[in-house]
Amino acid sequence: MTADIIDGKAFAARLRENITGQVAILKDKHNITPGLAVVIVGEDPASQIYVRNKNKSTLEAGMNSFEHVLPENTSEKDLLALVDKLNNDPAVNGILVQLPLPKHINESAVIDAISPAKDVDGFHVINSGLLATGGDAIVPCTPLGCLLMLQDRLGDMSGLDAVVVGRSNIVGKPMAQLLLNESCTVTIAHSRTKNLPEVVGRADIVVAAVGRPEIIKGDWIKPGATVIDVGINRVPKEDGKSRIVGDVEFAAAAERAGAITPVPGGVGPMTIACLLKNTVTAACRQAGIEEPEV
Ligand code: NDP
Repeated sequence: MTADIIDGKAFAARLRENITGQVAILKDKHNITPGLAVVIVGEDPASQIYVRNKNKSTLEAGMNSFEHVLPENTSEKDLLALVDKLNNDPAVNGILVQLPLPKHINESAVIDAISPAKDVDGFHVINSGLLATGGDAIVPCTPLGCLLMLQDRLGDMSGLDAVVVGRSNIVGKPMAQLLLNESCTVTIAHSRTKNLPEVVGRADIVVAAVGRPEIIKGDWIKPGATVIDVGINRVPKEDGKSRIVGDVEFAAAAERAGAITPVPGGVGPMTIACLLKNTVTAACRQAGIEEPEV
């Protein structure tokens, strides 16, 4: 293996330490304790685990955590009423509604109802518009985590060829926008892209956000490229159990890349850390103060 492994777990731990320091300053100097409200509807086990982790991490950083667990049969009207209450609650600086929502609830209507200033997921159309136009957006957590790792690894990315595989509103599109803001030459690939190996092979930076196990083959990677693997795919093992793999064929890609994130232990841990970061950002903007330097 020749690539450096980008340790997302260690990076996220450092980021969380920094955020904990910022929260302490906000409490001491400004009497502000950032608060994050997480709303979950229904009993999806994966979502329940995410929400529990988010709650624990929020408290560990010294922030307030407000958890709202609603039954599966909650109506859209009742959920919108809760969002409205949280929008108007000064103790709540960030609101996250865990997706997916049950089928009878219109997700877009709920995302639209969250105050853009408190939209710590960065999914509101105002925040995506601000990101696209170079304004003070709240940036979706997963692409923000990828960007922080790329900045740490590469510093100035100006002029580099970047390929983002995947064009979802949550990962691919905001990731491409962030790389464009870094003055990369950005290509967005997707399921209709012709000759994906050639497109990926041109890239100094590859961000894979597809959701297909090891679809990006190791021998496509340009030697020395930086590879960020967002994918989380559960695949069966021979013993009947399962394991998690990314969208990139890790071992073969690590033979060619300059640096690569593993799965698990790469992008995943950064996502929650960036949620906390966004909550601090939101709290500071709402109070009209600069984010404290730690
Ligand atoms: P989506 O399913 O919303 O988007 C997947 C994208 O991949 C689509 O744009 C799709 O193209 C594209 N795609 C599908 N098949 C191919 C193909 N054969 N070749 C090229 N492109 C293809 O997924 P998300 O963006 O929400 O998530 C992507 C992955 O990242 C998932 O594994 C998810 O679990 C993971 N994830 C990880 C997070 C973390 O914290 N680490 C957070 C969020 C997501 P098209 O638009 O044409 O259909």
